[in-house]
Amino acid sequence: MSATVLVLGAGMVGTCTAIHLAMRGHSVVLADRRAPGEETSYGNAGLIQQEAVEPYAFPREAAKLLRVAFKRGIDVNYHAAALPGLAGPLARYWQASGPAHYPAIAQAYARFIAQAIPEHAPLIAAAGADDLVQRTGYRWVFREQATMDEALARAERLHRDYGVQHLAMDAGALAAAEPALKLRLAGAIHWPQPWAVADPGALVARYAAHFARLGGRIVQADATTLRAQGSGWAVQTSDGQLDAEHAVVALGPWADTLLRPLGYRLPLFVKRGYHRHYQGGPVPTMPWLDADRGLVVAPMQRGVRVTTGAEFAPRDAAATPRQMAGAEAAARELLDLPQPVEAEPWRGARPCTPDMLPVVGPAPRHRGLWFNFGHAHQGFTLGPASGRLLAELIAGEAPLVDPAPYAPARFDA
Ligand SMILES: Cc1cc2nc3c(=O)[nH]c(=O)nc-3n(C[C@H](O)[C@H](O)[C@H](O)COP(=O)(O)OP(=O)(O)OC[C@H]3O[C@@H](n4cnc5c(N)ncnc54)[C@H](O)[C@@H]3O)c2cc1C
Repeated sequence: MSATVLVLGAGMVGTCTAIHLAMRGHSVVLADRRAPGEETSYGNAGLIQQEAVEPYAFPREAAKLLRVAFKRGIDVNYHAAALPGLAGPLARYWQASGPAHYPAIAQAYARFIAQAIPEHAPLIAAAGADDLVQRTGYRWVFREQATMDEALARAERLHRDYGVQHLAMDAGALAAAEPALKLRLAGAIHWPQPWAVADPGALVARYAAHFARLGGRIVQADATTLRAQGSGWAVQTSDGQLDAEHAVVALGPWADTLLRPLGYRLPLFVKRGYHRHYQGGPVPTMPWLDADRGLVVAPMQRGVRVTTGAEFAPRDAAATPRQMAGAEAAARELLDLPQPVEAEPWRGARPCTPDMLPVVGPAPRHRGLWFNFGHAHQGFTLGPASGRLLAELIAGEAPLVDPAPYAPARFDA
């Protein structure tokens, strides 16, 4: 039966949820304080990661932990003052990354990730967004032979366990394939299956335009005005109060801001990240992960986008220049990057959960309230699959994947 549904948050996840609800005949309003796709879903590396079948685990080897603790690399940074507040979620993250829990988590994640490209493909076609998408994969490039050998062993395991494809490239093959590369590196792993998007925010905007063509409405609203109203929900929008039978929280790293006043204390945290574009130099043929330094360089419409790894800090704390400065210096060793485009780097926050799985499903203690957030490193990848899954749960249809691992109730002690 068709219903009125309010989707709060027009990032990749909320926009795709709105599309799947509209496709099922519901009357859907997509609400955001900004235009669609202007926050985390704008600033990422633009990869639709079919190879990312195992989520990012908390490092458990002493050498890696010490490297992070003493800030010897740039792939991970942290604000010391934030650590006491993060201790609870990080302890759970560490535990979930161990041998007792991680294999089952990875199995669930792999089943979800397998749906990523099959679910993006029809939306890209319907949204007329083919011009934004390159389907040639991406490369992990290696400075050290030892790191490459370790990554190759893992790539072979991912092939055996999940069918993920890869191609090993030695130093000569990499140099020939990537004329923009300045250094002679040890080699690369080419993952041919992922897709690369040249303007991630623009893809969300195209999906939102497709949603509007399906009859959906896009409004400006502050999601924190959401209140229970009769048997449903109401929110204040720029067009006045809007009532709906169902409300979906798809606020990415801001989900907590809305949920705490409703009485939910989910163990959410963020891994912040930065990017900056550069113009005027030669461009890689596809995105590269500098595997020994932990940054991505991606050819994009605004220039070559350099993105950083993870920073453990409060979502809204002031930017710290260390990680982006280090990423820029490392990227400059690989590529000529003459002119930065932005005066200051962009900063965003990956919305994370301790068990590395997103939160998708009914709110445990409120009828008609639904959650779809916490997609961490792969929300741009998973948006369409996650949007479909939630729309199926609301409609009572057979779900695309088993929803049990993603159920919000798993955190509602
Ligand atoms: C540096 C970096 C690189 C990344 N690279 C990749 C990648 O290559 N591939 C990949 O799959 N993922 C990547 N990610 C992760 C990915 O970007 C996120 O998981 C994803 O964008 C989350 O989408 P979302 O829709 O949940 O959140 P968002 O895109 O943040 O959307 C949330 C929306 O809520 C709105 N909002 C917030 N508060 C309110 C309010 N009070 N009222 C109204 N609206 C509100 C915001 O305006 C925003 O539009 C990367 C992330 C970072 C930081």
